[in-house]
Amino acid sequence: MSAVPEAVSVRPPAAAPSRYVPSHIAGNPARLTAQQRELIGRVAELGPRWAARAPRYDREASFPFDNYADLREAGLLGICVPREYGGLGADFETYVLVAAEIGRWCGATALSFNMHVCSCMWSGFIADALDMTPAQRADHARIRALHYARIVGEGQIYAQPFSEGGAAAAGAAPWGTIAHEVEGGYVIRGKKIFASLAGAADWYGVLCTLERPGAEGRGSRRDALYLAVPKDAPGLAIFGDWDPLGMRGTVSRNLAFEDVFVPHDARLMPEGLYFQAASRFPHMFATLSPTYMGIAQAAYDFTVQYLRAEVPGMPPVKRRMYPTKQIAVAEMRVKLEATRALFLQNARDARIDPDKDTRMRLYSAHYTIMESANDLCRLAIRTCGGQSMLKSLPLERLYRDSRCGSLMLPWTAELCLDRLGRECLYEAGERDEAIE
Ligand SMILES: Cc1cc2nc3c(=O)[nH]c(=O)nc-3n(C[C@H](O)[C@H](O)[C@H](O)COP(=O)(O)OP(=O)(O)OC[C@H]3O[C@@H](n4cnc5c(N)ncnc54)[C@H](O)[C@@H]3O)c2cc1C
Repeated sequence: MSAVPEAVSVRPPAAAPSRYVPSHIAGNPARLTAQQRELIGRVAELGPRWAARAPRYDREASFPFDNYADLREAGLLGICVPREYGGLGADFETYVLVAAEIGRWCGATALSFNMHVCSCMWSGFIADALDMTPAQRADHARIRALHYARIVGEGQIYAQPFSEGGAAAAGAAPWGTIAHEVEGGYVIRGKKIFASLAGAADWYGVLCTLERPGAEGRGSRRDALYLAVPKDAPGLAIFGDWDPLGMRGTVSRNLAFEDVFVPHDARLMPEGLYFQAASRFPHMFATLSPTYMGIAQAAYDFTVQYLRAEVPGMPPVKRRMYPTKQIAVAEMRVKLEATRALFLQNARDARIDPDKDTRMRLYSAHYTIMESANDLCRLAIRTCGGQSMLKSLPLERLYRDSRCGSLMLPWTAELCLDRLGRECLYEAGERDEAIE
């Protein structure tokens, strides 16, 4: 019998079909509404395309226009537009679950999409829960119909620039961007930093301070005004480089407003309503963290597939049999499930005028999701090892993207601890002198 030499292949053998079934982003899907299951399913179908495109957007720091075309086609741009305006009418819980599923596939798409959705959510079910006079409510209904028609009817996108590089985005000072009323509308002057969707959005939902007569250039946080500025408004300019560590596809460049005129119908909320929303519906700021819940899930899924030697393009070398790997992945799973539990609790807690305990759970959940996402990515790299952090694999991007979560204002990780620490130890109105 003559020995036939085996052909030497430079390609790794094709991996066997994986039997690993990743978790549903909401844990037990049986607890979801039919709409929640359906919308998460829509995203899960689109997700693999987004994951395939993510390396390019990350490398180029370019905006994921193709993913937005998918979102538009799937009807998801109007996810939080109320049904009576032709949208999907998703509530807070439904939206954050869908957002986490988007984050699982592409963090930059999920984070920037959140900025768009805020314009619908704040002017939609959050505004509905707030106090307005009948005249204000009627006016708001008329104006938001114009905004929603652009989104639902024309597939347009809104950005959410509020950060200014000062204390305003932390909620500690009035906006430095000033609007003053003129005949027919407002004139805006100021600057915003880190505006995700810069150059990609059709509209910029700008937070400013409405200047009162006799208080030129000044105002209080109660004077906040939320205005939609069209991308081609004279006086609006996009400036600055965009070459950050992570979330590169958000293209969060700076905006300058040099006497930009907008008509009265640019109001996304009636005058004074943003302050009421920020004071009475704090969950409105918690929509930044679902993106990072998705990233945490993605890092965990990657680790399991890697240890099982089921990552496409990698040699089929299993590592799951080592006790150290089993312990490490068990620790990751515990952290993931603890994070998901807080994420779900918070998703279901959102309401107007939450009591103190609910607010404390909210800060705790937000902090935990942001910090755990980064920690899970760190553990994933340590557990999988050196080859796992190559640029050809998604883990190093997840790691970089996850780092950005706890930097987001108004609730950075530090500011969550700041609020929690104070509120744990002081009841409303208490001062140290009163205790001593
Ligand atoms: C990828 C990415 C996308 C973003 N997209 C948007 C967007 O679309 N729209 C938008 O408006 N913003 C966006 N941001 C901005 C983000 O929300 C923050 O405003 C920004 O990261 C703050 O950076 P800074 O260096 O100006 O923070 P600083 O204001 O300098 O704060 C630095 C740190 O000091 C602490 N700190 C700040 N203020 C206080 C205070 N009053 N009291 C105590 N501690 C305080 C905080 O912990 C904070 O982390 C984005 C940021 C990133 C990274």
